Amino acid sequence: MSSMETNKRGPMTIAVSEILLINMEKPGVAFPFIKALVNVNDHFHELYPDSEFPFHIALMTKNQAQKQRLRNHLNKLGLSQVSIHQDDYSSKPEPKVLYLSEDPGKAEEAIKTGHAAAIMFPNDMGNQWNEDRELCVAFDGDGVLFSDECEIVYVEEGMEAFKQNEKDKEDIAIEKGPLKCFLEALSDLQNKLPSESWSKVQTYLVTSRNPLISGTRALKTLTTWQVDISQAFFVSRAPKASLLATIRPHIFFDDKRTHIDKARELGVISAHVPYGKGYATEGACKK
Ligand SMILES: [Mg+2]
Repeated sequence: MSSMETNKRGPMTIAVSEILLINMEKPGVAFPFIKALVNVNDHFHELYPDSEFPFHIALMTKNQAQKQRLRNHLNKLGLSQVSIHQDDYSSKPEPKVLYLSEDPGKAEEAIKTGHAAAIMFPNDMGNQWNEDRELCVAFDGDGVLFSDECEIVYVEEGMEAFKQNEKDKEDIAIEKGPLKCFLEALSDLQNKLPSESWSKVQTYLVTSRNPLISGTRALKTLTTWQVDISQAFFVSRAPKASLLATIRPHIFFDDKRTHIDKARELGVISAHVPYGKGYATEGACKK
């Protein structure tokens, strides 16, 4: 992709609620992810001092009166580039926002408004504390990067109809899902970095699609969108959680409660995307 095309899409805002970043005066569950984004911004700035950061990171608070206290905390955590805002991003028509909240209602509202959004769990303690490593993000496919159009066929008409649908539409890109814009931003960034820095950003597709039957359409869709993914795993009926525990992403996005619950049990920091057929039937995960 050319740098002109890369620049066109502009920076993305990552809005994270206070308790996910600073929980009871300590680093919250989203801290490793946010710190890795800050490191990526810093690295980008070293390479291109005149360019804007690729990610604007905003802490969302309900208590603006505590702004100075929060500012001190952020500075202590090495997050001085994070800005502080009133917690109302979900309803604003910002062009490109990933909104992370512990409140299912707010994340649902953000998705309905057309943003990328997910629910995180403040009491989770991932297995990767104190690790200062490269940014690593794992995405589910259907209902996350892609819309739930194929999931609807599966749920309403069964597996055989799903397989036939994927075969018939193999060369037609799947409609975009709520997290497409975030993968796009990460892919744009990878394309802007010199090759020796590519490992600074690692993206994974971890989907239950089958590599032989329905995986091809997923990969063709990403090619049509002109977005890159570092690695794609088509696990079919195998569990996602054990693979994710090996990848140890800073954050894993999925729309299905079962996948999220199992990943969390293995200490994978997970974010539940409140979108589509899967979420509508299963509802939000327990805190
Ligand atoms: Mg899914």
